[in-house]
Amino acid sequence: MTNFFKRLEEKLENFGQGLESGAKKLEDKLKGVEARLDGFSKNLDKRLNGLDKPDAHINSSQANPAPQENLSQPAPESRDNLTPPIPPVPPIPPVPPIPPKPPVPPKPPKPDIPHFFIPDPQIPPTPPKPAIPDLFIPDSPFPATHQAAPTDRQAAPKNHQAAPDNQQAPVLLECKGLKKYFQAPRRRGSAIEMIRAVDGVDLSAKKGETLGIVGESGCGKSTLARLAAGLARPTAGKVVFGGEDLITPSGAVPREKRRKIGFVFQDPYGSMDPRMRAADIIGEPILSHKLADSASARLEMAAEAAEACGISSSELFKFPHQFSGGQRQRICIARALSANPDLVVCDEAVSALDVSIQAQIINLLCDLRDERGLTYVFISHDLEVVRFISDRAAVMYLGKVMETGPKEELFENPRHPYTLALMESAPVFGAKGRKRIISTGEPPSAMNLPPGCRFQSRCPYAKPLCGEVEPPLKEFAAGRSVSCHFPLE
Ligand code: SF4
Repeated sequence: MTNFFKRLEEKLENFGQGLESGAKKLEDKLKGVEARLDGFSKNLDKRLNGLDKPDAHINSSQANPAPQENLSQPAPESRDNLTPPIPPVPPIPPVPPIPPKPPVPPKPPKPDIPHFFIPDPQIPPTPPKPAIPDLFIPDSPFPATHQAAPTDRQAAPKNHQAAPDNQQAPVLLECKGLKKYFQAPRRRGSAIEMIRAVDGVDLSAKKGETLGIVGESGCGKSTLARLAAGLARPTAGKVVFGGEDLITPSGAVPREKRRKIGFVFQDPYGSMDPRMRAADIIGEPILSHKLADSASARLEMAAEAAEACGISSSELFKFPHQFSGGQRQRICIARALSANPDLVVCDEAVSALDVSIQAQIINLLCDLRDERGLTYVFISHDLEVVRFISDRAAVMYLGKVMETGPKEELFENPRHPYTLALMESAPVFGAKGRKRIISTGEPPSAMNLPPGCRFQSRCPYAKPLCGEVEPPLKEFAAGRSVSCHFPLE
């Protein structure tokens, strides 16, 4: 320990000596810098004195005259003598005074009547513009003749009767072997799989008829609706509208045919642009198909369609969020009708509404059908709604039609086990303890359908043949078809 302290002491001494020598060196350097600064300041003073006294070098030469023998010799040049004398600054001339502004001459008085307002007897007077109707002014009251549409709560449901049976009416819409497959999302390296959304559908709707399509979620109803309206291209098969193919070989739908088909979507709010006013939403098909010559004519047509659907003209300038759910669906129906179509495809048009509003919208659709002779393809998963509004109905399951027929016969005497299972699954008020046929089992994947009947995994009447041969849709009576090897009696 003592050695350690001794060594530490020696190191400290050495360090102290080093510090002292460093301080001395610094002190010497500072002295040198001070001496240089002194010399520099003296030199600067001399120069400044020379600047203050321009004749100083002359006076100094006079005060200390050079020796006579040296007068002929030029004086040795010094740094001070090399500096030229600074000439005196000339005085700044006085700024001349700003002359006063000349007074602004007064403007000549305007003539009472300009010459261009004097009517020229040669030019005939311009006819007065027609008065703008109240329709163009959002806040203006409408004529007294206009009756405001009843609100959704005031409208009372009607007991509509289905349209009269028109056996002789021509077929307006026909689906022949219609198929629509979608490619399923796949992982890297896996095989391509196709989802058979619509897998060979044959259906037809006569003019003025309502064809109801019912089935559980995922059975392909909405895809069929889009195919029937020309909004999607089929994978196979064709849609015939008015006796002609709806989709041309190039894959497009002719504009005139597109005008004749209206579409009502399930979600009224989602199908509208929230930034557009009701008048613009309803007038969109009119604009698209160039059915009006001017904006005012388009607005009048939109107002007419809106009033037919129970939307007051004074509400046409509101945005979608300012309407109730029922009113929004009325706007969607008005939009579908504004181009005066022949066929309206309603894809779950009342499914998103309350039950009370559903009744009003269904009544409205029935009224419009009766007034305008419309043909409906009405798609729903609600059996009672389809039963109420349809003339004929088709039951779909996993992309295929299981059974079709007039609604009374189909719902009162179902021949396909799936139709019966659908009807049995609906709850009935006061029918406690009733015997029901509940189909069990899981539906197969639409990507991997089993051979034979696609309902076999849930059918209580399945037999070996059902797993081998797929039953075709066969007509067993006038207007009645079923796809089953062993139809119910
Ligand atoms: S074909 Fe067979 S499995 Fe299919 S619905 Fe008819 S009975 Fe049931």
